[in-house]
Amino acid sequence: MDYAYFEGKIIPVEQANINIKTNSLHYGTLVFEGIRTYYNEKQNQLYILFSNDHYLRLLKNAKAMFMDTNKTPEELTEITKEILRKSEIREDTYIRPFVYFKDLALTPKLKDFTSEIAIYTYKFGRYLDTSKGIHAKVSSWRRNPDNSIPSRWKVAGGYVNSALAKTEALMSGYDEAILLNEQGNIAEGSGENIFIIRGKKLITPSFSEGILEGITRKAVVKLAKNELFLEIEERSIARSELYAADEVFLTGTAAELTPVIMIDNRPVGNAEIGPITKKLQEIYFNAVRGNIERYRHWLTPVYDT
Ligand code: PMP
Repeated sequence: MDYAYFEGKIIPVEQANINIKTNSLHYGTLVFEGIRTYYNEKQNQLYILFSNDHYLRLLKNAKAMFMDTNKTPEELTEITKEILRKSEIREDTYIRPFVYFKDLALTPKLKDFTSEIAIYTYKFGRYLDTSKGIHAKVSSWRRNPDNSIPSRWKVAGGYVNSALAKTEALMSGYDEAILLNEQGNIAEGSGENIFIIRGKKLITPSFSEGILEGITRKAVVKLAKNELFLEIEERSIARSELYAADEVFLTGTAAELTPVIMIDNRPVGNAEIGPITKKLQEIYFNAVRGNIERYRHWLTPVYDT
């Protein structure tokens, strides 16, 4: 049976239901996270990837939305471990924690409401095709600007923007959308950060482009520097530079490290996974599954061994 954390208790997920009058449901004022676990069969261990970083981001975003959980990232990691253990999960899983206003009240506001935290899990394989690469479309929708709904916050309402772009891409025969910001520069995917490779340089939009401060983005920058000795540039990227890139890939907890092989019907390089992307993928997938000792600190083991 799968368990969830709901209203301060770990209960069967079927019993974790919210009232239809719940305020955050109506105004998208819910902040959330997406965390992955990876099962290592040889070690008979389930690892949570970057648990504390995700919970830190959740709490920071909750604070910005005037929500208070009275929990620390460490406490939330412990609760997550308990849910996974109780559900006896020994396979790759996605964890969805979120904070919301539980009040059964109207008014789109953030003050004088009671916040609640919930966590549930579901079994999860690949989100995008990491083995062959994907086709992406530069969206006709612009990423929501910082002074409208900040993309830095993983707030439910902001994901209307992602849903519009993703749907347009899917209905046009592509796998994923790449959104430009209001200035017309590359921002990010509907649920991923974006990187381009030109020569030995790894280039990614800086945080001032109005993007989510991706946890996978940070990890991949580290791997690129430490393992492949690439030069990293965080700066504005014009749409035309995307077409000029040797390699392009997306990063995200769900998307992991997904190569983009076609953009707007133009091949990226030779329209196959590039050599640097391939190497980074290999290191990333080994690190997250607990196969590289020096990156074991990224992981929280769930079971006592
Ligand atoms: N951008 C957006 C819009 C996202 O939804 C995500 C997924 N959380 C990312 C980037 C990647 O962030 P992370 O690597 O922290 O999962």
